[in-house]
Amino acid sequence: HVTTKPPPEPSPLRNAKFFQANMRILVTGGAGFIGSHLVDRLMQNEKNEVIVVDNYFTGSKDNLKQWIGHPRFELIRHDVTEPLLVEVDQIYHLACPASPIFYKYNPVKTIKTNVIGTLNMLGLAKRVGARILLTSTSEVYGDPLVHPQTESYWGNVNPIGVRSCYDEGKRVAETLMFDYHRQHGIEIRIARIFNTYGPRMNIDDGRVVSNFIAQAIRDEPLTVQLPGTQTRSFCYVSDMVDGLIRLMEGEHTGPVNIGNPGEFTMIELAETVKELINPEVEIITVENTPDDPRQRKPDITKAKELLGWEPKVKLREGLPLMEDDFRKRLEISRKN
Ligand code: NAD
Ligand code: UDP
Ligand code: UDP
Repeated sequence: HVTTKPPPEPSPLRNAKFFQANMRILVTGGAGFIGSHLVDRLMQNEKNEVIVVDNYFTGSKDNLKQWIGHPRFELIRHDVTEPLLVEVDQIYHLACPASPIFYKYNPVKTIKTNVIGTLNMLGLAKRVGARILLTSTSEVYGDPLVHPQTESYWGNVNPIGVRSCYDEGKRVAETLMFDYHRQHGIEIRIARIFNTYGPRMNIDDGRVVSNFIAQAIRDEPLTVQLPGTQTRSFCYVSDMVDGLIRLMEGEHTGPVNIGNPGEFTMIELAETVKELINPEVEIITVENTPDDPRQRKPDITKAKELLGWEPKVKLREGLPLMEDDFRKRLEISRKN
C-alpha cells in the first residue's frame, strides 16, 4: 500500500535560504571607477547579493559608501594576486589599474595582477562553476593598423614597451580566459572596453578627460599631448555598465568591443571642454609619452547585433555630468 509522507518541517536553514538572494556576484576591483558604478547597478536588483574584493590601489571605499552595511553587500580588502575562496555564481573581474600613470608606477605588479589575478579568478570560477567576465581593453589592439577596430583584428602591440605590462598583460588574461573555457568548460565573457569617463574618476590619475576637466575647473591650461591629432572615442560610464551587464547575461563569450564610436582628436576634446566648462582657459601642447596609440575607435557592430547594445550618452552630455562631480570633490563652484 501507499504511505503518504508528511511534508518536511521547514528547517531554520531552509528558512534562512528563503531570504537569500538568487544570485551572488563577485566584483573584483569594485571600489574603482567603473566597478563602483557596476555595483550600484547590480545592487538595484533585489535578487542580487554583491561581494566586492579590492586592494584599494586606485579605488576607494568612498566610492561604495552608500552600500557599506547593506545586508546584500560585502566588501573585502584582498589582492587578486593571492588565492580567494568565496562561493559565487558570477564574477565580474575588473581588478587592475587602468590609468597609464598607475599601471606604469609598478609594472611588475600590473602584470602580476593581470596574469596571476586572472588565473586565480579562473581557478575560483572553475571550482564553484561560476560564469566569469573579464574587462579587457582596446589596448589589446595596440597602435592599431586597422581603423575602426573590429574584434577580429589581432593588434599591433609592442611586447617590450612601457605600456606592455598593461596591454600584453590583458592579452595574456584573454588567452587564459579562452584556455580555461576550452580546457575546463568555464563560461567566459570578454569585454574589450574603450576609453570610459564619468563621475568618480580619480581626479589626478592623468587620463585625458579627468585631466582636462580638473584643469578647466582649476583655471589651469589644458595640456594637449603632442601631436594633438591622435584620436580616442569616449564612452560614458552608465553606457559602459549597461554593456557589461548585457554581455554577462547574454549567450556570447566575446570578445566584444564596448565603447562609444564617436571619435575625437585631443585638440577637439580640449576645445569642447573649454567651450563647455571654462571659455577663458588656455590650451597648450606638451610632450607625449612613448608608444601612444595614434587612433582608436571601436567597431561596435557585434555589440549591437549580439547584445542589442549601443551607447546613448553623447560626449557633450556626459562632460557636464562629470564636471558636477569634479566640482563637488574639488570644492570649486561655478563662477557667477
Ligand atoms: P580603476 O583603477 O578605477 O579601478 C580598478 C580597481 O581595481 C581599483 O579599485 C583598484 O584598487 C583595484 N585593483 C587594482 N589592482 C588590484 C589587485 N591586485 N587586487 C585587487 N584589486 C585591485 O579603473 P577603472 O577605470 O574602473 O577600470 C576597471 C577595469 O576596466 C580595469 O580592468 C581596466 O583595465 C578596464 N578598462 C578601463 C578603461 C577605462 O577607460 N576606464 C578602458 C579599458 C579597460
Ligand atoms: N584558486 C583560487 N580560488 C579557488 C580556486 C582556485 O584562488 O577557489 C586559485 C588557485 O590558488 C590557483 C589558481 O586559482 O592558483 C588556478 O586554479 P586551478 O584549480 O585552475 O589550477 P591549479 O590549482 O591546479 O594550479
Ligand atoms: N592626453 C593628453 N593630455 C593629457 C593626458 C592625455 O593630450 O593631459 C592624451 C594622450 O596622449 C593620449 C590620449 O590623451 O593620446 C588618451 O590618454 P589617456 O591616458 O586618457 O588614455 P589611453 O592612452 O589609455 O587611451
